[in-house]
Amino acid sequence: MQEIRELSLPELREKMRELSEKPFRAEQIYSWLHERLCASFDEMSNLSLPLREKLREHFRLFLPEPVRILSSSLDGTRKFIFRLEDGHIIESVFMRYRHGNTVCISSQVGCRMGCRFCASTLEGLARNLSAAEMLTQVYQIQRLLGERISNVVVMGSGEPLDNYENLTKFVRMISDERGLHLSQRNLTVSTCGLVPELLRLSEEGFQLTLALSLHAPKDEIRRRLMPIAARYPLSELLPAVRHYFERTGRRVSFEYSVVRDLNDTKEEAEALSTLLKKLRDGGEGSAGQQKGFPLHVNLIPVNPIRERSWERPERRRIEDFQHVLEKNGISATIRREMGADISGACGQLRRDYLGEKRCETN
Ligand code: SAH
Repeated sequence: MQEIRELSLPELREKMRELSEKPFRAEQIYSWLHERLCASFDEMSNLSLPLREKLREHFRLFLPEPVRILSSSLDGTRKFIFRLEDGHIIESVFMRYRHGNTVCISSQVGCRMGCRFCASTLEGLARNLSAAEMLTQVYQIQRLLGERISNVVVMGSGEPLDNYENLTKFVRMISDERGLHLSQRNLTVSTCGLVPELLRLSEEGFQLTLALSLHAPKDEIRRRLMPIAARYPLSELLPAVRHYFERTGRRVSFEYSVVRDLNDTKEEAEALSTLLKKLRDGGEGSAGQQKGFPLHVNLIPVNPIRERSWERPERRRIEDFQHVLEKNGISATIRREMGADISGACGQLRRDYLGEKRCETN
């Protein structure tokens, strides 16, 4: 049976025809699903009981079930562990910023990219999330907290561009004026840099913000952190990023997880500045002609995970790194840690939860 939130409005209209219902029912149902964020067919009070019954017979309707919610008393951050319909566990995070409420969602159960410092990839990929499973992380959090979500970042577990079809469907649906109608400018997709998919994304006509996980200015160091760097060297990746900007006009942010004694030296900061300036100014030869490629560096002090020995540099060292970038005209911020009192970095909360459950059943 199909999950009803997987259907676009035209698809839902078609289904109504198949079920011998009036096509305009599709608009009503779509609104219950994507605007009013209903949890069951019973809530669809402007539909007759027989129609609700018919829908129940033909479709699934599921919201992820919160099995644990951690609330920060420092800044209102909330971390959610959700159980999906087939029992898989994912995590999502709610953060309150001055510019609005932000939700960070997962795009896959696990991940197969293998980045060395990341907890989400330790057991590989279990499966992709469907578009509905991405949407309903946001819907469920908005329901549970009763607060409007204005920004979504696809920066949780998983590699979004490794789940391309579902990701792009999710982008269309969450920004649809008949749904949450979230501005695509308030939607950020973070990728480790899958070049073919990045080029394809450039042509979708979206207004997304791209976050590129760079983590090193040189292939040699990048390969030590991210296996994907062996497939796509910077000489292929950076032109693809520039292409994304040229096609969309959108600013790109570069994620840089700072790891002690690995990518945190002054030399790396200088190399990163040179690399990004060259990218911004359109490469050698045309320097200065294409000014205005707005790029930004987010420095993320690495969250050490139990399974690996990476360490976070001292604060001073990260600030020095930032200053080198700024001195070179590259804007950079050090990511503020949200919900520090409910810590458990990206993907680790889920691992903790799964670990506990395993202990309980043994
Ligand atoms: N697969 C996507 C999105 C998921 S991770 C990507 O690679 O961008 C979101 C960001 O958090 C990425 O920049 C990722 O490299 C970073 N990250 C993951 N685990 C981390 C950790 N333990 N410490 C610091 N940054 C981490």
